[in-house]
Amino acid sequence: MIRTHACGEVSAKDAGKEVTLCGWVDTLRVTGKISFLLLRDRTGIIQIFLDTGLTEKYQHDLKKESVVLVAGIVHKRPENQVKKELKTGSIEVAAKKLELVSAAETPLPIDVIEDTTTNIDKRLDYRFLDVRREQVKHIFLVRSKIYSKTVEFFEQAGFVAVQTPKLTASGVESGAEEFKIPYFGKTASLAQSPQVYKQMFVVSGLEKVYEIAPIFRAEKSHTTRHLTEFTGIDFEMGFIKDEHDVMQVVEDYFKFLLNEIKKSCKEELQYLGVPVDIPKSIPKMTLGEARKILKEHGKTLPEDEDPDAEAEKLIGDYVKKKYNSDFVFVLDYPWKKRPFYHMRPENNKKITKSFDLLYKGVEIGTGAQREHRLDVLEAQAKEKGIDFKKMSFYRDIFRFGAVPHGGIGLGLDRITQQLLNLPNIREAILLPRDPERLTP
Ligand code: ATP
Ligand code: MG
Repeated sequence: MIRTHACGEVSAKDAGKEVTLCGWVDTLRVTGKISFLLLRDRTGIIQIFLDTGLTEKYQHDLKKESVVLVAGIVHKRPENQVKKELKTGSIEVAAKKLELVSAAETPLPIDVIEDTTTNIDKRLDYRFLDVRREQVKHIFLVRSKIYSKTVEFFEQAGFVAVQTPKLTASGVESGAEEFKIPYFGKTASLAQSPQVYKQMFVVSGLEKVYEIAPIFRAEKSHTTRHLTEFTGIDFEMGFIKDEHDVMQVVEDYFKFLLNEIKKSCKEELQYLGVPVDIPKSIPKMTLGEARKILKEHGKTLPEDEDPDAEAEKLIGDYVKKKYNSDFVFVLDYPWKKRPFYHMRPENNKKITKSFDLLYKGVEIGTGAQREHRLDVLEAQAKEKGIDFKKMSFYRDIFRFGAVPHGGIGLGLDRITQQLLNLPNIREAILLPRDPERLTP
């Protein structure tokens, strides 16, 4: 390695030692003939003292965001001169040698400072520079942990990780638009859900499967919560009694996830100013009950309609006040609005054994018990006007011994957005894809 220490790792314990550091020029302050360089890498910022000679030689080269290599001696600061705003505030490095590794052009195309005034579109055009900002970096450190802790949870819970095709013939109808692409004289679709395959591999005998993978939706929506490519967290499990078994796993997952994030992302959460509330249990309400609550709050939600963004927000506020919970399961979505493979209760064919999970008033997941009885499934497809014969490989799943099963589709980007209270889902993904954006 070209450095002996990362910038944020040097501490008073290293006083007197020679260290070699390498990072980006955060700021250079020249005072008279000497200067102070704030050098930054992923771990933090450290102050470097440059004497007259080094200042004279380099002051015009050390443009903000250039990469420099510095060798120098660590000095402890006197107690009353500790810089509280820096993690490394108790020390300073007196440079002996300096080397410009890679110069940054000026001017920078975006502000690489915490209080940026650059708009989000421009920031996304230069996302790699934007990520150099502490704020943005912390978001992606947390997202990375959400990803790895999700894997940890499902592995511990005995789920099998699967990777299913993203190039598909055609999805099982889910209401979402598909991206069509040419495929050797045929037309393929980019997977808009791993639904079919999740069910297939529960039935295969793997019993409990999960997948964390891209999902593509050709929805021309311009909202703060929709992307055309996002990361789905999907799981599906067999031998369930009903959809409540699925909800139990979802509840266990979020309790585990939030606990782990709280423990392992202390610094990031503190920097971002985000408290994390862990639910003791996740309250449940039927959509009928939600409708009544909405009515009391002046919002009429017609029968057979899904809650819109405003309704979800109202429900979220209500459960926060009533149960002090950021989460709520909303149950029993109307058959009219749900796909044909959602199971219906025996005594009410107008609803499905489905649920949405709302987190801080935004949907982050939709789950259900699936219909595994072929005759019922065929009848349900017919009722929805779907030609089930054309979906022979989906139909086959239920022909040779299918167990009762259910699952959920969650969105990693939405979870990150809601956990960190980000105003726009584009803040929660490195390189968002939406109807207007295909680059970088
Ligand atoms: P919405 O009603 O918010 O458009 P949906 O009900 O169409 O979402 P589902 O098909 O239920 O979405 O997908 C499961 C989960 O995947 C959602 O709860 C959400 O977390 C995530 N998700 C769905 N569509 C998108 C999208 N376009 N961008 C980002 N995440 C999405
Ligand atoms: Mg949904």
